[in-house]
Amino acid sequence: MRVTLLGTGSADGWPNPWCDCASCAWARRHEVRGQTAVLVDDALLLDCGPDVPRTAARLGVRLSGLRHLLISHAHPDHLGPESLMWRSWSSAAGRPLDVVGPPAALAVCREFLTRWEGADPAREGSDLRFVPATAGGGSPVDGPLRLGAGDAGYLVRPLAARHGDASIGPAVLYDVTAPDGGRLLYGCDTAAPLPAPTLAAVTGRAYDVVLLEENNGDRPGFGEHLDLASFAEVVAELRRRGAVVDGTRVLAVHLSHRNPPGDELARRLALLGAQAPGDGAVLDLTPRAPLRLVQSPAPATQPASPAAQPPPHRVLITGGARSGKSAEAERRLLAEPAVVYVATSAPPDATDAEWSARIAAHRERRPAAWTTVETLDLVPLLRSPGPPLLVDGVGLWVAALLDDPAELATRVGELVEAWRHTARRVVAVTDEVGSGVVPASAAGRRFRDALGLLNAELAAASDEVWQVVAGTAIRLRPRAADS
Ligand SMILES: [Zn+2]
Ligand SMILES: [Zn+2]
Ligand SMILES: [Zn+2]
Repeated sequence: MRVTLLGTGSADGWPNPWCDCASCAWARRHEVRGQTAVLVDDALLLDCGPDVPRTAARLGVRLSGLRHLLISHAHPDHLGPESLMWRSWSSAAGRPLDVVGPPAALAVCREFLTRWEGADPAREGSDLRFVPATAGGGSPVDGPLRLGAGDAGYLVRPLAARHGDASIGPAVLYDVTAPDGGRLLYGCDTAAPLPAPTLAAVTGRAYDVVLLEENNGDRPGFGEHLDLASFAEVVAELRRRGAVVDGTRVLAVHLSHRNPPGDELARRLALLGAQAPGDGAVLDLTPRAPLRLVQSPAPATQPASPAAQPPPHRVLITGGARSGKSAEAERRLLAEPAVVYVATSAPPDATDAEWSARIAAHRERRPAAWTTVETLDLVPLLRSPGPPLLVDGVGLWVAALLDDPAELATRVGELVEAWRHTARRVVAVTDEVGSGVVPASAAGRRFRDALGLLNAELAAASDEVWQVVAGTAIRLRPRAADS
């Protein structure tokens, strides 16, 4: 299966041509993304918004071999019915083309072509074959569709999306099995969580590639779309269900300027095991070959050989109060099927409403699938096997043990040893101390010294060390030149 990304942007594209925000300014300088569409083997096209045929032309991609057009829904960035008219003026006219989509999307095509070509394109003898596709709800075609004959045939399963309103009807996602057995999930557009029947249908599919929309970046709330956090949630669920497995390429599409600038987006997606290749990227997914970016006309903002790296084992994240260090730590594990969150804070004191509210807000942000453990006994957790640990944080742990200096010294030694030898993936959050005035109290000075020394010891035994300043993550170790 060969997959060509003919577009990876949102309805308005990225940059939005009208917009001067920082995200659009970055995109304008580095990487322009048009409306999302994906070409499989030059024979099957997923979505065809008005941008798409022109993007294909600019990329030197021919659409003459197209046999099957799959439309996800009738929003205008996924459906440009005029394309079918331009096709009828080409050498491809007269060749059969399946047009598959929800009934409302097919109706838009038929109305447009009837008006401009003077005849219903669904008439007898037309080269267009309209195939309604809905996921559930007693539609005429409610199961897998077999498109094309014999060895060149595709098996297509429309799946329910969380997207669409009364005017366009429910949108669908597509599960596509190519003639060579390659498996692709096209998850665009949808919000989270995916509907239960869709999750049931993708269980165990072990896709070669999952294309999942991520329209909203760090600014959720626009339309029925995914943002970075809910994208991670969906990926985690797909991992739990064996739909995303070790070899699966998870690609973010339908990207808009609600995302952070592209270099930061690439970093954030990499933390989730995902990538966002640009328009024109071609993925050769011939049976289980390692991902090869055959062609990428975009500048080198994406790694040239983005084979999945195993995630770093021990990560220490330091930062000042309210720097964003906890959120940065959580981001590293959001797409994991299971996580043990280790809270080292004392249980909320019922009389301290402000502290209880902080703890509650932290807890609220964590995915429901995470297990929370409140403990100061970090060593047994580091020594036992299990899902990744998120320890938040080392500063509170030191503070809780500060009253007994001998006990603290012993436990610090044990903690550093356990950290050094742990077989478990662990991300720990700590506080950056000592940048300001010398603490006025003896206890304050003892805390600063103990935590400062412990941070240095943990950092020396970590695979990665990051500092977060004003919400911006800076890698301290290994330095870019070392890795
Ligand atoms: Zn869309
Ligand atoms: Zn913008
Ligand atoms: Zn839409």
